[in-house]
Amino acid sequence: YMTSAEAGQYVLKASDAARPEATGQICSGAQAGLLGLVGERRELVVLDNATTHPRYAPPAETGGQAFDTFLGVPLIYYNELLGVLVCWRQVSARFDKDEVSFCVTLAAQLAKVIYEASNAGVVFELVHNGAEANAYIQGVQAATGVAIGTATLLDPLANLESVPNRQAEDIGAQEAAFRAAVLAVQAELVASSERLANVLPNEVRELFDVYIMLLGSDSLVADTLARIRGGNWAPGAWRDTISEHARVFDRMEDPYLRSRGEDIRELGTRVLVQLQSGFEDSRPYPERCILVGDAVSIQDIALVPAGRLVGVVSHQGSAFSHTAVLANALGIPAVMSLSSLPVGLVEGTTIVVDGDEARIYVNPSRALLDAFEQQMDGQKALSAELMKSRDLPAQMVDGVRLPLFANIGLDSDIDLARNCEAEGVGLYRTEYQFLLRDAFPIEEEQYQSYRQLLEGFAPRPVTIRTLDVGGDKILSYFPLEEDNPFLGIRGIRFSLAHPEIFMIQLRALLRANAGLENMQILFPMIAKVSELDEALELLARAHRELMEEGQPTAKPKVGVMIEVPSAVFLTKALAARVDYISVGTNDLAQYILAADRTNARVTTPNDTLHPAVLNAIDMIIRDAHAQSTPVSVCGEMAGDPAGALVLLGMGVDALSMSPASFGRVKLVIRAFTSKRARALADEALEQEDEKQVRDLLNDALEGAGMLRHWPRVEDRAGSDVGTFTE
Ligand code: PEP
Ligand code: MG
Repeated sequence: YMTSAEAGQYVLKASDAARPEATGQICSGAQAGLLGLVGERRELVVLDNATTHPRYAPPAETGGQAFDTFLGVPLIYYNELLGVLVCWRQVSARFDKDEVSFCVTLAAQLAKVIYEASNAGVVFELVHNGAEANAYIQGVQAATGVAIGTATLLDPLANLESVPNRQAEDIGAQEAAFRAAVLAVQAELVASSERLANVLPNEVRELFDVYIMLLGSDSLVADTLARIRGGNWAPGAWRDTISEHARVFDRMEDPYLRSRGEDIRELGTRVLVQLQSGFEDSRPYPERCILVGDAVSIQDIALVPAGRLVGVVSHQGSAFSHTAVLANALGIPAVMSLSSLPVGLVEGTTIVVDGDEARIYVNPSRALLDAFEQQMDGQKALSAELMKSRDLPAQMVDGVRLPLFANIGLDSDIDLARNCEAEGVGLYRTEYQFLLRDAFPIEEEQYQSYRQLLEGFAPRPVTIRTLDVGGDKILSYFPLEEDNPFLGIRGIRFSLAHPEIFMIQLRALLRANAGLENMQILFPMIAKVSELDEALELLARAHRELMEEGQPTAKPKVGVMIEVPSAVFLTKALAARVDYISVGTNDLAQYILAADRTNARVTTPNDTLHPAVLNAIDMIIRDAHAQSTPVSVCGEMAGDPAGALVLLGMGVDALSMSPASFGRVKLVIRAFTSKRARALADEALEQEDEKQVRDLLNDALEGAGMLRHWPRVEDRAGSDVGTFTE
């Protein structure tokens, strides 16, 4: 039984009982009987004398025939009731423990499959008929704003089913690419088979022979070439050939032959991977490009030519994944965690990314486009209004000033930072430059890039953070294979484990500061005092070496990031050793709440307002101030109006945020007195959960007439679909 749109109503979807014709029957209320009870309770119900139970009703699937023994398990996927699996036993005998255990396990596994299949079905419909329905797919909020553009698939070839059709512009080139890919895979298979000759049992080796034979068969190759000549590009033609041939085997009675269908698909993927390497650089980017992919990365964003990227849609990720952080910095709307978007079907279609509501619309109707265009005009007007506050001081009603700094990482956001009247750069993420390359940059290259940055802002201070790779920032040329990358070699751990790489960066930084002296170095992910001591020692050594070599250099101010819970408790010791502290709330919330920042199932934009996180920040501020060390905050929280307000109240000395957030945060600062902000912070620190904190702060912002300036941060989960309403 599946739940229907109406609460408490169930539809019999499939039955192995005597009356299969009952399929499609709807039941609800008393008529639903015991299955309704299972759905209400959302727990397993096993009964020996079912007919005597007060909720018993004759089951539809048996044609009303009474059975005594009942077992019902809810089908639940991430807390969502999808249906109920019901078993009746004709002979009166208990279900034994193995049977119960089997049904519970089956239901859990089935729920996932049903969820994905039904979502995929609904989404498929949407993609094809969305124009009529104005329907949307719900994701989670990653960066606000609205964009209309053309869906551009990232890595469209990663899996065979999602390869889109594309008109072959040069048929000869497509044929040649295909033939080359087939030859390469054949060579690869022959080589593997020979290499493993003595290691593998014969039956496994035979598999290689089957693949080689299949690839050599005329039909696969000839069919594909015919399709290419028909106008499709090689990956699209290959996809069709493979699915046609695999289907023939799928239909066979004989299990051995049937499994050959899988072999064909496996072969399909191998050739596809080869083809992929030949097409990588030829991807066209439309004028108004919306990147769509399984996991859109920082590198993918950086590859889009300047000015073309207007939106990001990613299956994976959440508000705090680095891709979201970057989209925010660039002011580009982003929606993530749409688990059932059939990406292959959307390539080239018009998409609306509604980052405020965390929804996307595929093939929107004219009326829908008009509504969103109007909304975008409204947003432009609002940004213009916010821009007006750009030149006003970030000063509270009672005159207390709060310096605002910009977070940057890509060259494109340097200009944004200059235009937003920041007092300087509060966080420059050096790893972005490392991520966009295919080898470690040498000292001279790093020097040039840091120097340019420092010159661009001098005399304003620029905080440059040393390499913070690991977690969701993996260098393609230095992959770290770890089971738990967020708890592995990240940030300073990487730099200390690789002094040869760290020293190059430190030398480049110290040289860049010579004569300008506006640089502040920042060490990420410090978890132990000894790590800071080691990093400081290496910095001192780099300085000594440069002096000995007679190179111009200047010692910078040094700061430490507090973003690991252990560091919170070491604030006094850390603060005594450095010039300033910068709180990384993205990671601090992730580690305090044990919730992977890239996983939208466990992370919400409210996490940084969690009372545990707030109390940690409060402790950092108090302990650092006791050492007269200033504290700034550079996580996304600083750019969230509610976050900024509570941080103001706790007494931070500076905030650093995406340039796109400047206008609204300035408005907040200018609307409150420090006394009122302190009172709000004190109240927030006393709350028990993050929702309460969000409500408290939103009420205060609303009271100050602020909330109309930006979309509410919402805590939504799942990838539902729905219909647009104005
Ligand atoms: C943070 O963790 O809050 C932070 C600013 O660093 P990043 O987001 O780059 O990890
Ligand atoms: Mg961090």
